[in-house]
Amino acid sequence: MTVDYRSWIRDIPNFPKEGILFRDITPLLGNGDAYKAAINTLAEQAKNWGAEVIIGPEARGYVVGAPLSYSLGIGFVPVRKKGKLPSETVSVTYDLEYGKDILEIHTDAIQPGQKVVVADDLLATGGTMAATIELVQKLGGDVVGAAFFIELLPLSGRDKLQGIPVHTLVQYD
Ligand code: 5GP
Repeated sequence: MTVDYRSWIRDIPNFPKEGILFRDITPLLGNGDAYKAAINTLAEQAKNWGAEVIIGPEARGYVVGAPLSYSLGIGFVPVRKKGKLPSETVSVTYDLEYGKDILEIHTDAIQPGQKVVVADDLLATGGTMAATIELVQKLGGDVVGAAFFIELLPLSGRDKLQGIPVHTLVQYD
């Protein structure tokens, strides 16, 4: 089925602050056909990359990554903000527009050499995904691809992802 994903993404001006145009994926998530088509397309790509496990950063990375895992019959590993994961973690500090943030992953979540596909809803500056990839690499994982619903082209997020293959369903200029 061909889906016009763009028609299921809503533009919200001035969210979360003045001057930002937020791309809201909740209409897409709320439509069974569109959501399923989006996941099926990314799952096909992840399968072609040889994914053995899917990893997504909280929180919207879970609504992409978890159904991808389920669809492929492979595991899902959550990346979380500092202090949320209960067992031993490794962490990485990354830059936000103002200030810094810390992401963490369980140290036993990935086996060395395991083929990992990282997933999130949207690629903007690439900071979140670059940090997620760094966490995987700290554990010896092999990041074979990065999958997103949306890419904001002017922010050149791909350039931060070490040349790792990227697949996005919708691109905005
Ligand atoms: P980046 O780290 O690439 O600059 O920003 C991407 C992260 O911020 C993703 O985790 C994504 O969920 C969130 N994000 C930033 N801008 C938007 C937006 O316009 N819409 C949505 N849905 N998420 C956004």
